[in-house]
Amino acid sequence: MDKHDYMKLALAKAEEAFKSGEIPVGAVIVKDGEVISSSHNTNRLERNPLKHAEMTAIETASRHFMNERLDGCDLYVTKEPCAMCAGAIIHSRLRKVIIGAKDIKYGACGTVLSVLGNSRLNHVPEIEFGVMEDDASQILKMFFKDKRGRDPGHKNKSHENIPCDR
Ligand SMILES: [Zn+2]
Repeated sequence: MDKHDYMKLALAKAEEAFKSGEIPVGAVIVKDGEVISSSHNTNRLERNPLKHAEMTAIETASRHFMNERLDGCDLYVTKEPCAMCAGAIIHSRLRKVIIGAKDIKYGACGTVLSVLGNSRLNHVPEIEFGVMEDDASQILKMFFKDKRGRDPGHKNKSHENIPCDR
């Protein structure tokens, strides 16, 4: 499997989120070619702002290894992590973060903030943007378009701005 295959798995998780009414973001953690955990965000369902896809994937992988450090693990995520998730990525010592779509509202990997990739911090994971970017942003656009269609009171934002008010 290559990076596109892992991102496809993350996109499949994003699709699951879409179907259950969650903002469609998916995350997969891989070590030595093995999928360790995969998740999508469940913050709406669980009424818990901490339940972003990346947070749950990190939590599951940490339990799997019985270790708070995920040395040698890579995270595939369909949307650029926010500041909370970027912090968790640094604390878990993930080796590399592979990202689908940029997040112009919350992205903390260089788009809005530079939490990931900040050389002043103790751990600096490698970052790769743009892996299956079109698919990753398309599913977000579809979700918000659908939401606006069902909710006429919802603010009509530009489709070019990927709204990520998850
Ligand atoms: Zn997040």
